[in-house]
Amino acid sequence: MNRFIFQGQPNRVLFGQGARREIRQELERIGCHTPLILCTPGQLGMAQEAASIFEGSARIFSQAQMHTPVTVTEQAMQLIEENTFDCLIAVGGGSAIGLAKAIALRTDLPQLALPTTYAGSEVTSVIGETYEGQKRTQKSPKILPEIVIYDAELTLGLPIDFTFTSAMNAIAHAVEALYSINGNPVVSLLAEEGIKAFLNALPVLMKNPEDVDARAEAQYGAWLCGTCLGSVGMALHHKVCHVLGGTFGLPHAPTHSVMLPHALAYTAPAIPEAIRRLQRCLNHEEPWTALYQLNLAWASPTSLAQLGMPESGIQRAVELIEQDAYQNPQPMNTEALTCMLLRAYTGAAPVIA
Ligand code: NAD
Repeated sequence: MNRFIFQGQPNRVLFGQGARREIRQELERIGCHTPLILCTPGQLGMAQEAASIFEGSARIFSQAQMHTPVTVTEQAMQLIEENTFDCLIAVGGGSAIGLAKAIALRTDLPQLALPTTYAGSEVTSVIGETYEGQKRTQKSPKILPEIVIYDAELTLGLPIDFTFTSAMNAIAHAVEALYSINGNPVVSLLAEEGIKAFLNALPVLMKNPEDVDARAEAQYGAWLCGTCLGSVGMALHHKVCHVLGGTFGLPHAPTHSVMLPHALAYTAPAIPEAIRRLQRCLNHEEPWTALYQLNLAWASPTSLAQLGMPESGIQRAVELIEQDAYQNPQPMNTEALTCMLLRAYTGAAPVIA
């Protein structure tokens, strides 16, 4: 077996239906009583339910946005400066959690996350902030939420199309962990188990989006896949999505759905062991084709054009991917990257370059 390093994460995870009602006890355990609650406008109702548990000592900021614009963080920081909050609660998907992380980075306030999508951000010490049209990621121990509560009841209303793209976002974390430069056997186990949890849950959710057991299994998958993202470095696929989201404003989860089959096909020749594991869990000789077929089966987007990408932006995207590139087992090559993005732009099936 090859030499490896495994670093466990210092977070506490509660998993179970109804567990969201324990937020007050959980925060009191660490000496916190007056939270600022962050959410996107759509999750205001869930944030109000959380606030009611604190009987008047919590406030809500409901303007979180995708890709964590620094301008929004600055608005929330003003509220922080004018009040005396001792902790943060994020109720929502990666956007709400991203805002809490951005504030924690600036203040070191403890965070409790109540995830409502499968993005997995709640278990990483990574943040991607957008400023003047570019999304930049950074890591810090201050960014990792101290407490995460997975309550599947919070995901029952997740629209089915977003359920699938958010699941693909999580699966992308697991796929890239299998060939990460600092991957290890423990993270590979989490990755395979996380992908399998989604493959079990999604066919059930397709028939009944309110099946709470399948929702819980999908959340379990999200935790495992997110833990992969939080444990090891990512590669080409995540870099492409950060460029497309940060510079071209493409929606996060659907961009992952479109790009994952293509980025995996691009990298496949350099990652035989990861491909063997993916063949096993996806039950297909060509795992990139299996992922593309899942997108088709779930009616998820398969083309960047559908998401609003301008064809004229592809050259600029390739430049940005190559500048400050994430380490990828298959080297960056301008022509091959352009080809990959053009195929993804039109919705063509992924191919090995
Ligand atoms: P999101 O948080 O923006 O949510 C998408 C939409 O779904 C929003 O309108 C939201 O209000 C709505 N929504 C969320 N939960 C819902 C529910 N249960 N029912 C109904 N509607 C619901 O989307 P996301 O994909 O979860 O997060 C994307 C953001 O997260 C991006 O900014 C991305 O960069 C970030 N992210 C960061 C990491 C990390 O580790 N740093 C990992 C993954 C994603």
